Amino acid sequence: MKRILFLFTILASVSCTAQKPVVIGISSARTSSGSVKLQSTYTEAIHKAGAVALVIPTISTREQADAILSTLDGILFSGGEDVNPAWYGESVYNETVYMDPVRDRSDSLLARAALAYGKPVLGICRGGQLMNVIMGGSMYQDLPSQTGTAVTHGGGASHRIGVEKGSVLAELFGSDSLTVNSFHHQAVKDPAPGVIVTARAADGVIEAYENGMVWSVQFHPEKLLHNGDEAWLAFFKAFADRCSGKRK
Ligand code: MN
Repeated sequence: MKRILFLFTILASVSCTAQKPVVIGISSARTSSGSVKLQSTYTEAIHKAGAVALVIPTISTREQADAILSTLDGILFSGGEDVNPAWYGESVYNETVYMDPVRDRSDSLLARAALAYGKPVLGICRGGQLMNVIMGGSMYQDLPSQTGTAVTHGGGASHRIGVEKGSVLAELFGSDSLTVNSFHHQAVKDPAPGVIVTARAADGVIEAYENGMVWSVQFHPEKLLHNGDEAWLAFFKAFADRCSGKRK
């Protein structure tokens, strides 16, 4: 009996060290009727990368954020509503700005916990905007009317981005220029302290940044992957490797 128990202990410890799955939380939105809302392209991308996706409902307390972040290996902040401009000292610029105060509060609690716990963060669209604001940056609230840009950034348009040498995107794609999708009407204006801008559209709009544990993209790589552009799998795998500690 003792020998069987001993063997079992050995087997259990071996399988634990070899098989520990990487668990990545994903922030969600709410429907008007109160359901948890998240496009499945996010969970699909994390699962394709070999990690386990855990959808996080909107939360309301610091204790909830601490409990969640202490169990996760990393967190993906998903797209959606605009971040309250009051957080970067501005009033609402025009009628295109739309917010959900419940989601804002939830995301800010999760973002602060992620930074406090030093967990890898991937911000997509709103997610990257949120992190920039939480870290002390500001936003263009409505790109077309505030910048007069000739590049179409909304409605699923495609446009090129120029990628900085030394960035994660440059490393993964081996190119200084990529075609991405575009579903946003806001973008980073003043990058937060410590943020390194790693990609811009032709009009100068910031399309990606990195800041220590935070990676941010203004476009939607999870949609590109879902639509068959397998090259973007490397991006999610790199993030999963970051979460597992395999990638520094
Ligand atoms: Mn864009």
